[in-house]
Amino acid sequence: MNGAAALQERDVGGSSSVAPRRGEALLHSKALVLNRSFLPIHVTSVRRACILLYAGAARAVDSTYETFDFSRWCESPPTAESLGLVGRSMPVPRVIQLSSYDRVPRRQVRFSRQNVYARDRDTCQYCARRLPRNQLNLDHVVPKSQGGGSSWENVVCSCHRCNWRKGGRTPEQCGLRLLRKPTRPGWTPFLADTASRGHYSEWGPFLGVRVS
Ligand SMILES: [Zn+2]
Repeated sequence: MNGAAALQERDVGGSSSVAPRRGEALLHSKALVLNRSFLPIHVTSVRRACILLYAGAARAVDSTYETFDFSRWCESPPTAESLGLVGRSMPVPRVIQLSSYDRVPRRQVRFSRQNVYARDRDTCQYCARRLPRNQLNLDHVVPKSQGGGSSWENVVCSCHRCNWRKGGRTPEQCGLRLLRKPTRPGWTPFLADTASRGHYSEWGPFLGVRVS
């Protein structure tokens, strides 16, 4: 990886054809990482994607699922988002495929606070307001005091105001209505979270993959 390390420090970003600040911003933006079955497994920085591509540990992927090694990718026509390398430019690799990684993302979504927020897209399931996570909490639809369990089917994302208004009552008992019936998500937490936070258009063909 010495060559790759050298690339990281010297060759990428300090561009003659791209203003350094813009090159730096591009390197810190995100790239989607796929396994060999084209399933999304991770999000990394463009800088890291370039290093993996240069080292031969990954190939760049275009929207038709065609894959490119480093030299072929460098020969691709420059785009609006190109990185300057020494003496040439290269399109930003927004999607890469790891050359030797077959693991499939977990199929069973773990029940956790962050994953409930991701499933509900950071949106209060009573008043439909989308809020920062520090202004949200988890609400037991049927309160624990009335026998409600901590499960995907009984816990939703709620704002503090609705949670306070609801108190220890069911939605019916206090006149609130759920936006939708809570269920266990079919996506991996990674996909749900990525989808909820928006993504680059180049990721679209790959995020459409349902994994369960
Ligand atoms: Zn609310």
